[in-house]
Amino acid sequence: MAWARDRTTGAPRYIGELKSSQTGAACNCECYSCGLPLQAVNAGNPNYKRRPSFRHPAGAAKDECLILSARVAALEMLQREGNLHLPMRRVKGSIQGLSGQYHDAWAFAPAETVRVARFEFRDKTAAIITLDDGRTFRLVLEGSIATHQQDSGASLLTPTIVMAINDPALAQMPPDELRKRITIISEHALWCSHWNDRELANEAEEKAVDEARQALDWGAADRETLLHLIAKQILEEEKRIRLPDLTGTARTTLQDGEPLTASKSYPGAMVKLERVLLEKNVGHTRPDVIAEMRESSPWEAGPILIEVTVTNAITEERMQRIRQNNLPTLEIDIRQLGGKVSRSEYARLVVDEVAGKRWLYHPTEALLRQQAAVTLSQQAAERNREIDQRREQETELAKFRKIPESLQRIIPPPSERTTTGSYPRKQRTHHWKHGPISTANSAQWRSCGCTQWEDVLRYAQERRADHQTVAIALRMCSERYGYSISLLVGIWMSAGLIQ
Ligand SMILES: [Zn+2]
Ligand SMILES: [Zn+2]
Repeated sequence: MAWARDRTTGAPRYIGELKSSQTGAACNCECYSCGLPLQAVNAGNPNYKRRPSFRHPAGAAKDECLILSARVAALEMLQREGNLHLPMRRVKGSIQGLSGQYHDAWAFAPAETVRVARFEFRDKTAAIITLDDGRTFRLVLEGSIATHQQDSGASLLTPTIVMAINDPALAQMPPDELRKRITIISEHALWCSHWNDRELANEAEEKAVDEARQALDWGAADRETLLHLIAKQILEEEKRIRLPDLTGTARTTLQDGEPLTASKSYPGAMVKLERVLLEKNVGHTRPDVIAEMRESSPWEAGPILIEVTVTNAITEERMQRIRQNNLPTLEIDIRQLGGKVSRSEYARLVVDEVAGKRWLYHPTEALLRQQAAVTLSQQAAERNREIDQRREQETELAKFRKIPESLQRIIPPPSERTTTGSYPRKQRTHHWKHGPISTANSAQWRSCGCTQWEDVLRYAQERRADHQTVAIALRMCSERYGYSISLLVGIWMSAGLIQ
């Protein structure tokens, strides 16, 4: 090793500082660790073959001796050098907000360069360092910094810094090399406790509280109360709020079972507010915020009640009381925001957004619903008429499909006929043909299971004999036998009764 203790003065000695006269036992040095006298080998010899060093009595040197010597050498260097670079101290503050979430913040003491006045070993791994400004701290010289972090008992009493100095090679190093190593080692030192820890802890906690305040998570009995309070503050400052659409919807079911709806709306708008009050009784409710709205057509002037939903949805029982108030009541639901929200985010949500807003009740909604119902009844009537027509056409088509193919050539398919119902239809006038009835198609009528075709033909013959008009005969026959007029026209034509 290159470092030892002077047996007379107790001062550290570096082998390179000895003169040749101090070779061997004449060095008057002992080992820091075991206290045994040491021999100086090759001291003061500039032409050495073996590197000069302190040597233990044969077989006595242990690893422990090397490590302790290394530590002493390191401190010796710090004292000689005078300057020691102390790392920054970081202290964490953590508080639990109203939401249950934690808010963390850090306070810092900056890194500083200090001057070492003296040091004194307390044991093999710890020394008390006194700085030239009078401050003292404990320097723990450890193999590994990490392991020391948990052991805080002694560290709390005295400011303590941990440095990883356990490399026996340090004990062999000359001062210059040692200086470089110490610089590197001290850069990686860690504070276990610091002179300013109490102040730093207070500062960190204040910062954490501030953070919680910024996150609207601190400053009232509970979060709900806090957010109501801040919503009111925001509306008071901004004196405006964006309202969502107010929509009245009417619903009905068409003849074919399809639902049909119609709506009338007041479009959403930014409206001006005049007075903003916090939680005042209104009827049987106590809305979170009450404000007075200025007119902004079509929105009428008057009071507006605002409910801020922070955690629980509004119950049906509460909804009933809100309806009884018969006043515009707006909900701002901020549940989707979760625990943390900044004041500016919250302000945007309360004032500008419509995303979390809905009307719990608005007296005008009933009026809008009535207007929608009028529109809806017109639309429904039209749609139902279309449904009727489609059904009639389908029935016609079904009947047509039952007709034998040979007759389908004579009777036009329903799609080619004019539509029935309320729409104007192209009238085609038929006239009686006087002559014998053609029985050419009788077999087909019979084969298709049409049981009344003979009755229908006989009926036509009778009407022809009575000189009734074909149009009236067709209508009466259709009513009596349930055949459509166009089908009857087809049958009568094929029998040669009309033309
Ligand atoms: Zn020793
Ligand atoms: Zn609320």
